[in-house]
Amino acid sequence: MTGRHAAPMPDSIRRFMGTTAAHPARGVVCPWCRASVQQPCVIPSSGKQPGRVHQQRMDAWAQLTACCTTCQVTPGVPCHTDGRALDNGRVHAARHAEAEVTAA
Ligand SMILES: [Zn+2]
Ligand SMILES: [Zn+2]
Repeated sequence: MTGRHAAPMPDSIRRFMGTTAAHPARGVVCPWCRASVQQPCVIPSSGKQPGRVHQQRMDAWAQLTACCTTCQVTPGVPCHTDGRALDNGRVHAARHAEAEVTAA
């Protein structure tokens, strides 16, 4: 080893690939399984699934931390289409991308 550093690998990519690293969405309570902040999501039928995060938690996290470039709302404001909030607290796909960037 020469000790020289190569270009750093973007952490957000590895995180997105579903490795064992804790997902930043753990920073919010899961509205689906009610896992507490920093606790892993729980699948009632099969027990804990470390590293997995419910889609609903991803949505809640994205809503809390990122702006949505699709419907032009600020962090904390639910996504909407034509003035109506999306069903089940869903957010636009672009907001997930924004949240990933914010967390990186
Ligand atoms: Zn969950
Ligand atoms: Zn939106």
